[in-house]
Amino acid sequence: MPPITSDALVLRTYKLGETSKIVVLLTRDRGKLRAVAKGARGPRSRYQSALEPLSEVRVGLHGRQGTELYRLGQCDLLRSAFRAGGQGLEAALSLSYFAELLDAFAQEGEAEDPVYRLAVAVIAAAEQGAEVRALTRYLEAWLLKLHGIYPPFDRCAGCGGALPTGALVYHAAAHGFVCEGCSPASGPIVPEPARAFLAAVFRRPPSEIPALPVEAAVLEPFHRDLISRHLERDLRSHRVLRDSAPGIRG
Ligand SMILES: [Zn+2]
Repeated sequence: MPPITSDALVLRTYKLGETSKIVVLLTRDRGKLRAVAKGARGPRSRYQSALEPLSEVRVGLHGRQGTELYRLGQCDLLRSAFRAGGQGLEAALSLSYFAELLDAFAQEGEAEDPVYRLAVAVIAAAEQGAEVRALTRYLEAWLLKLHGIYPPFDRCAGCGGALPTGALVYHAAAHGFVCEGCSPASGPIVPEPARAFLAAVFRRPPSEIPALPVEAAVLEPFHRDLISRHLERDLRSHRVLRDSAPGIRG
């Protein structure tokens, strides 16, 4: 049987036996899947840096469609994740967060071309030096939107009326932003500059992302809560980024 070929992003790898790895891939054509990379941990591994998280590769996969574990054959590196990861600790932590986010949102065997294109564009923008923290909010916002979770800015989640311009007020019980008539709301409040940043996020490619305004700090816990509630768990990187943040930002 000829192998299945697809472009793919490496999300993560883990050890298998003495010399092999299991690779979790976000493939363009078949969504998330797992494949055994035989000999990937050996000294003469033919895969080398192609299996670093967020490397983009072109793979040949052996196995029946829908199988739980493919065998990785050919694996050509299209773009190495190394450069973006070489831009300091915060960039490196953020990239590992990107991989964890994509892994958490992707369904096994379900192709999502918009998610794949989003991921590739965000990684490319990080490589070109776009602000990593702004890109992190960008990736979160778009993953939430593509999965139907980001609350709309224009309609009140309580009464359906038009929302005024200015700050947005979130109400957890309504799963969205609410108008003054539907208050009091649980919060948080998304100040106007953060709203403008989000509007730009949903209008522009990641390469044209504006600088993150200081008022947008609220988006970090806000997105984290939306993500945790959707996934019904906390992501490991949320804790790592929070714990290491003061040292990085000081
Ligand atoms: Zn309302």
